[in-house]
Amino acid sequence: MSEAAQAQTMGFQTEAKQLLHLMIHSMYSNPDIFLRELISNASDAADKLRFEALEHSELYEDDPDLVVRIDIDSDANTITISDNGIGMSRDEAIANLGTIARSGTAEFLGSLSGDQKSDSQLIGQFGVGFYSGFLVADKIVVETRRAGAPASEGVSWSCDGEAEFTVDAIDRKERGTSVILHLKDDAKDYANDWRLRSLVKKYSDHIAVPVEMLEILPPKSADDKENEDQEEAEIVPQYERVNSATALWTRPRKDIKDEEYQEFYKHVSHDFQDAMSWSHNRVEGKLDYTSLVYIPAHAPHDLYNRDVARGLKLYIQRTFIMDDAEQFLPLYLRFIKGVVDCADLPLNVSREILQSSPAVDSIRAALVKRVLDMLDTLAKEKPDEYKTIWEAFGAVLKEGPGEDFANRERIAGLLRFATTRGDDAMVSLADYIAAMKPDQDKIYYLVGDNESAARNSAYLEIFRKKGIEVLVMFDRIDEWTMSHLQEFDGKALQDISRGELDLGKLADEEKDEDSSDKPEDSDAVVGKIKEVLGDRVADVRTTSRLTESPACLVLGQDEMGSQMRKIMEAAGQAMPESKPVLEVNAEHVLIQRLRDESDGDKTADLVGLLYDQAALSAGEQLDNPALFVKRLNRLLFET
Ligand code: ADP
Ligand code: MG
Repeated sequence: MSEAAQAQTMGFQTEAKQLLHLMIHSMYSNPDIFLRELISNASDAADKLRFEALEHSELYEDDPDLVVRIDIDSDANTITISDNGIGMSRDEAIANLGTIARSGTAEFLGSLSGDQKSDSQLIGQFGVGFYSGFLVADKIVVETRRAGAPASEGVSWSCDGEAEFTVDAIDRKERGTSVILHLKDDAKDYANDWRLRSLVKKYSDHIAVPVEMLEILPPKSADDKENEDQEEAEIVPQYERVNSATALWTRPRKDIKDEEYQEFYKHVSHDFQDAMSWSHNRVEGKLDYTSLVYIPAHAPHDLYNRDVARGLKLYIQRTFIMDDAEQFLPLYLRFIKGVVDCADLPLNVSREILQSSPAVDSIRAALVKRVLDMLDTLAKEKPDEYKTIWEAFGAVLKEGPGEDFANRERIAGLLRFATTRGDDAMVSLADYIAAMKPDQDKIYYLVGDNESAARNSAYLEIFRKKGIEVLVMFDRIDEWTMSHLQEFDGKALQDISRGELDLGKLADEEKDEDSSDKPEDSDAVVGKIKEVLGDRVADVRTTSRLTESPACLVLGQDEMGSQMRKIMEAAGQAMPESKPVLEVNAEHVLIQRLRDESDGDKTADLVGLLYDQAALSAGEQLDNPALFVKRLNRLLFET
């Protein structure tokens, strides 16, 4: 007997059972969604068949009308959801149904908190699609045959919600898949025609493929009963369509209720929670297309994986063509979900063709604009919702200025930053500008390794003293983002750890107070330091940047910052050598002590310490940490 003909019992991945129980536990409050999920899968299967049949029309066999049917057997206590879509081979059934929350189960379990409310939100992010059947069933049997395969290659897959499932070969004449739910005792009420119809209307009305159920025949009258023996032609109930079966995006906007948009969102996104916002547009003219794009309310767990599927489904004249049509949106908008239905592309379009299609380019430009408009509107009109979005997707939006040069000013307007204004405040560049000092002409910012390093940085000293706000950044990507932004709304963006400090008119106020500078003294001490450091530094100079610290390291205006340098080095890139400028605070006692020191060894220790502490406080690693410790100790034990 060949392997394919044998019954085989297999285990799920180890975590599956745990996940299954957790899911049932956390979603128990809305078991209704099982139907939506199974119909959504059936509809996807119909889409896939239609797509494959574009090239292989024989896949339709003699059954070209795609349909989903729901049957109830109240004696057996089962509900069966059948489709004549693409179906599954044995291997596909094992791979697709044998893995719960396919991407990242372990990761998911690791992030559980034990708090039911937040865990059930989490589970929504992972999506358990098919397994939601176990909300109402204690046993699920799937019978399926892949389109094009012979009847003898039918597959039966069954699972009782525990750690194992069984696959077996069956004969199956019908193409596609039947999911048979054996209802749990407390879910028997679902085997009710009226109830299922209302669930289909509520959750799956937007599904483009017809969802049918058997009509309900009037009860037999007494006359009929008497005539039973006479073998009268029995009335066979017919299937009737329950949903509207029109693709939602093809309907006029005004006819679509918010709830319908939300249900459609769940179908296309595989998300279990509502979307935050959407935009539905039909464009006619040089190009004809319809787009319906959604902003989710939370990040999927794999958002930062840049290789992961992006959200748009492509349809051409209502025929599903592909998931993840990445050509229609840039990477920094990869969190957007939805559909594009385009009339002007050939049905046999490939990813390669999409890549070089001018039509796609112009749709993409329009979609980007639309999404940025949506984000703008949310930011202006619903700041609380925008905050949620920013928390979920901010780090991804920050990829924008580097990726989408044409829109960088618009994207910059959507960014939010922590600031020295307050510990919890998040401000936009426009907020910053609105609060600038009268004579201030630059937007000051600082990038640090982490929040506390940034907020306590020596570079902030003079700004704190003068009460000038500085944006503080500590995301891995910030330096990269800022390297693509030179100005906003006509105001230059200035990294306060680079170049010579130029406070413009803001510096003048205190000039007279400090005019008792001792230039010769400072020159002498600067000379001393230069002599010791030699070519470790590009230069040594005095600064007004510091009010408390003795020294700091400053980068050239256009040099790569340490954050990015570290990332590049970690990625194995050879980096050109870069030398910082050491800036010293001539007022500081340590510098004064250095000025008065005549012993050569002590001078070398002091300068070495000065340099190393400046490096440390800039978040750098020391070249020779042991020497630093020795020097520090020599100084501490000095009598
Ligand atoms: P998702 O729909 O998010 O991919 P599901 O858990 O709902 O996840 O389904 C898992 C997979 O099982 C699907 O991706 C598909 O490959 C397969 N599948 C489920 N139902 C069907 C069906 N009715 N016909 C064909 N394949 C199906
Ligand atoms: Mg699904």
